[in-house]
Amino acid sequence: MASVKEQFWDPIAGFGVTFRTMFKKVVTEQYPFEKKPTAPRFHGRHQLNRWPDGLEKCIGCELCAWACPADAIYVEGADNNDAQGQRFSPGERYGRVYQINYLRCILCGLCIEACPTRALTMTNEYELADSSRAGLIYEKSSLLAPLLPGMEEPPHPMRLGDDEGAYYKNLGITPVSRGGAGAPNGGHM
Ligand code: SF4
Ligand code: SF4
Repeated sequence: MASVKEQFWDPIAGFGVTFRTMFKKVVTEQYPFEKKPTAPRFHGRHQLNRWPDGLEKCIGCELCAWACPADAIYVEGADNNDAQGQRFSPGERYGRVYQINYLRCILCGLCIEACPTRALTMTNEYELADSSRAGLIYEKSSLLAPLLPGMEEPPHPMRLGDDEGAYYKNLGITPVSRGGAGAPNGGHM
């Protein structure tokens, strides 16, 4: 049989918690109507960056895919070909196919550490839910940085130098154009 304390005091004590909480500051977040900014270096969706003339920084080397512990990245490289007007990046090769599978990705950032050209960085975007599995495999078209003023959609010839060395050494790239070289929206460069 329940004691007097259990019958009378315990329910009152339980309501005490309710009353105390009623007068505390509400901590409910109104997501998705009000979005709180993330920490500046939060690891969100990836971005494939561009040079200031619009050429892609990715050279299709696959180092990001090899570094990924979750096997979430798939890359197929191909040769640039000036004679056929098929230049997508400075230098020899570019990433013809680039996919990141966000069903596997753990957003650890190892891939961006492995990238030799800083082509791959991460944005602060965290809304990666989808209603289908296929929708969470992001293609290159979804990952490429947007074209900023002064950029031109590849393929097109190298505009910032005669060879890739000029791009990598930032020759012919003014500080202003370097600043707009491909990481809007919090992309980590
Ligand atoms: S963030 Fe980590 S898990 Fe995701 S693709 Fe890069 S290396 Fe793979
Ligand atoms: S994103 Fe970087 S590491 Fe990955 S294939 Fe392109 S250049 Fe290589």
